Amino acid sequence: MIILVTFDKITIINKWVYFFMTNITVYSDDVRQSSEFLRLAISMLAKYRIPVDPHNYQMGYECVSGKNQALMDDLTHLIEKSRTPSQEQLESLYKSYFMQDEAFFEIMRQEIRKIIIEVLHGFGHSGEQLSSYSQTLNQFVDILDSRNSSTEMLEETHKVLDETRSMERIHKQLENQMSGVISEINSLRKELEQVKEESKLDTLTGISNRRAFDVTLEQMIFHARKNAKSFCLLLLDIDFFKKFNDEYGHLVGDKVLRYVAASLKRNIKGNDFLARFGGEEFVIILPATKVSGAMVVAEQICDAISSGNLTDKENNTSYGKLTISIGVTQFRASDLSDDIVHRADRALYLAKDRGRNRVEKL
Ligand code: GH3
Ligand code: MG
Ligand code: MG
Repeated sequence: MIILVTFDKITIINKWVYFFMTNITVYSDDVRQSSEFLRLAISMLAKYRIPVDPHNYQMGYECVSGKNQALMDDLTHLIEKSRTPSQEQLESLYKSYFMQDEAFFEIMRQEIRKIIIEVLHGFGHSGEQLSSYSQTLNQFVDILDSRNSSTEMLEETHKVLDETRSMERIHKQLENQMSGVISEINSLRKELEQVKEESKLDTLTGISNRRAFDVTLEQMIFHARKNAKSFCLLLLDIDFFKKFNDEYGHLVGDKVLRYVAASLKRNIKGNDFLARFGGEEFVIILPATKVSGAMVVAEQICDAISSGNLTDKENNTSYGKLTISIGVTQFRASDLSDDIVHRADRALYLAKDRGRNRVEKL
């Protein structure tokens, strides 16, 4: 029974180990593509006088190959703040994108290895005891078969009884050890779930991040195809945010980003999905919605943002008005994820071109 429960847990551990292994970044660019990205990455790093060490090169490569838009936005932001970012700033950026998960996974791997070794040790130990016990039982059967005196029989019975009690104790110990292992595995599982949840969130605004959006969009496309249903995508960009940042500083800019995220959250319903797309851009997916419905939601968001007056209650300062432009588009059966995002982006640029603080569709 105990052995069955434990093997079940070992299967779970194996799945985890597999999960960790498969979550490490894999690059599949061919020689031509990767050489081109190498050239672009090095020239980008050289332009901002960033040393081409392995970490900076990995960041450069992910940026120029378009694999990591969120990192690109953060790096651009860093470069705008301080023309040549310091090695500490770059290292902290690298850690936030590449090392957080790996460090955590390494700790988990070590923990799991420790548990497996403990479990196996427990098995080995009880196995030795079990084989000596079965030997005693076998000898006892032999003694029963031979015609020994009643005193000898009594002595042997006592011996078997003692060993049976000691086996019972070992069994109890193993049971306790196993319940300890189970609760350790449970707490590791909870930690893992928490890290997985946190890795989907944008640290500044607390809403979903670009990584979570990419996954959700793929799922939406899959379901839309399977059930012949449509959905809409809204790409939102704060107007003249750079000027705002320049005038009041980046910390105020950050507060504004949090304010916009909260306003957007208030203006969507339960099943709608909101994420920070990168920098001062947000994205919303409206499931089972036609473009006419999406336009209504987008107009409401535009009005809600532009009708507010930005004030900082802490120091009683007013930052004036804030507006947002929105591009809207509906999923088409032939769309891949990039197609629908590019169309929403083109619609957003139309909105910018036609005066900002407005919604356009394509
Ligand atoms: P437009 O109306 O054309 O969109 O103009 P814009 O100024 O909003 O757009 P632009 O792309 O020129 O500037 C975006 C700015 O967003 C520049 C960058 O410093 C700022 N930004 C990006 N990410 C962050 C962030 O995390 N915090 C802060 N405070 N600013 C950010
Ligand atoms: Mg922008
Ligand atoms: Mg903008």
